[in-house]
Amino acid sequence: MATSQAKIMSEFTNPDVEVLISAEQIKEKIRELGADIARDYAGRNPLLIGVLKGACTFLSDLIRAADIPLGIEFIAISSYGAEMRTSGEVRILKDLDVAVAGRHILVVEDIVDTGLTLSYLLANLESRGAASVKLVALLDKYERREKDVAIDYLGFKIPDKFVVGYGLDFAERYRNLPFIGVLKDPTQ
Ligand code: 5GP
Repeated sequence: MATSQAKIMSEFTNPDVEVLISAEQIKEKIRELGADIARDYAGRNPLLIGVLKGACTFLSDLIRAADIPLGIEFIAISSYGAEMRTSGEVRILKDLDVAVAGRHILVVEDIVDTGLTLSYLLANLESRGAASVKLVALLDKYERREKDVAIDYLGFKIPDKFVVGYGLDFAERYRNLPFIGVLKDPTQ
């Protein structure tokens, strides 16, 4: 099926989601990000750490766009309840399977929102003795930032809207949409 036709079909079958960033735009951006990462990390065998579950789609496309030797790992984290959130403390639900000491780490995240989760995670990885810790994020919801987080490689800045698709969910739905969209009515 032609790409544009596939895009129309996926929009058509998801009338509750309005397209914000198309599959073609994502593909093109990932091509650029992969080339940048391959150039910057050549000869350094970076370890790309995907934050489950949202970043797994992004990570799997990104590594195929970065033509250098690299490793991948996954980490699953969960933030505490609303009252604890301002502390930025998160719980590690699934930790890495390897040590990061001396490795060049590139954290792969789907979206940076308040920045609380990421600032904790980046500091945590640095404290484990990584040679370097950088961040690649597909989306930056910059208007909601509470903690400064340096995004070293960024896909798109987006407005303060709840987005789904391309790995991002609402109650575990919509992760498999090939585009990023805005949920029209999250209560439906
Ligand atoms: P932060 O600590 O930056 O506020 O939280 C980032 C996490 O919140 C993301 O990894 C993601 O799981 C979730 N999140 C933030 N904004 C959105 C959004 O618009 N849609 C979805 N599906 N998840 C979001």
